[in-house]
Amino acid sequence: MSYQVDEKGFYGEFGGAFIPELLYPNIEELQENYLAIEKSPEFQEEFHQLLKDYVGRPTPLFLAKRLSAKYGAEIWLKREDLCHTGAHKVNNTIGQILLAEKLGKKRIIAETGAGQHGVATATVCALKGLECIIYMGEKDIERQAPNVARMKMLGATVRPATSGSKTLKDATNEAMRDWINNPEDTHYIIGSVVGPHPYPDMVARYQSVISEEIKKQMDGLPDYVIACVGGGSNAMGAFYHFLDDKEVKLIGVEAAGLGVDTEKTAATLTLGTPGVLHASRSIMMQDKDGQVLEPHSISAGLDYPGIGPAHAWLKVSERAQYMAVTDAAALEAAVEVSRLEGIIPALETAHAFSVLKDLDLKPTDRVVINLSGRGDKDMNTYMEELNLNAL
Ligand SMILES: *Cc1c(COP(=O)(O)O)cnc(C)c1O
Repeated sequence: MSYQVDEKGFYGEFGGAFIPELLYPNIEELQENYLAIEKSPEFQEEFHQLLKDYVGRPTPLFLAKRLSAKYGAEIWLKREDLCHTGAHKVNNTIGQILLAEKLGKKRIIAETGAGQHGVATATVCALKGLECIIYMGEKDIERQAPNVARMKMLGATVRPATSGSKTLKDATNEAMRDWINNPEDTHYIIGSVVGPHPYPDMVARYQSVISEEIKKQMDGLPDYVIACVGGGSNAMGAFYHFLDDKEVKLIGVEAAGLGVDTEKTAATLTLGTPGVLHASRSIMMQDKDGQVLEPHSISAGLDYPGIGPAHAWLKVSERAQYMAVTDAAALEAAVEVSRLEGIIPALETAHAFSVLKDLDLKPTDRVVINLSGRGDKDMNTYMEELNLNAL
């Protein structure tokens, strides 16, 4: 059984490139070139040098002693929160900016919801002196003012998407339209393992540095690797080099929102059904007419009605297990990690920690949790939800 993408861009029955004809030239250019570029010595050298000197890799693998004592197993934290810009997303934008350069692109576009991917993209565009246009829903621009300011400070243009619900999916539509109109000089940086082939595989390869490092940093194999799942890029990065090590249990944690039995949820793999979203076939949350459901999660990074096709395949083939964690449970876990380890995690990441109490752990078990990002960006939510001002 293979868990890797096949030549046509499929993971089992999932994946592919269901794109409008107008996008064929752009996607074919990527499909034909992404592997050769990634494998070239020049790319590898610059990619690894930037990961080291700019991002600050390798990120440490930290033994969390007080969490370990509490849960009765060895708990190790892969510290992606220590990456430049505060999360794993920059691993991917570094890879894609180098790819864009090699393809001779002068102009970069991206979509962003909460602004984290927009900031990671604006960062690498500044690094390389490339023009950067970020599409963002008008409503998100209002809600995420600090990230909008960061993108502008970094020299990016933030273009509001004013149609529909004025959020992420409308920004994605605008970015697609831009790309169709500018096929020659523009590269579209997608922020997770979603979208048409080759994006899911390309982003997984750039993020796979996470599991490559874990393997080097650990003596032998861990028993568990756990990561939160929005589109699924930090989880794919953490799983990648363990996919063929069947004894390693892989657990993805999605956002249950107010609960999987409510309408306010983002638990795609728990509740979803097969369908095509953002040009690839995967599992998505939809009603019986195929209408995409509005997701809900307290964390903006997990608030997505789809999931990367590789995860749909890992679930259906039973190579990985997926669990869902509510907003309230994630908040509780965020407080616990902060107070036991002195690390304030991103709200997305807090979901991954919350499943520790539900696993049947033995004292000899070694658990790696991918600490995908730091909580600075979430302090407003933490202040409100935990009533920190009253403490
Ligand atoms: C964006 C984000 C996520 C979710 O995205 P994936 O592609 O599923 O990794 C998770 N954690 C953090 C800190 C994020 O910023």
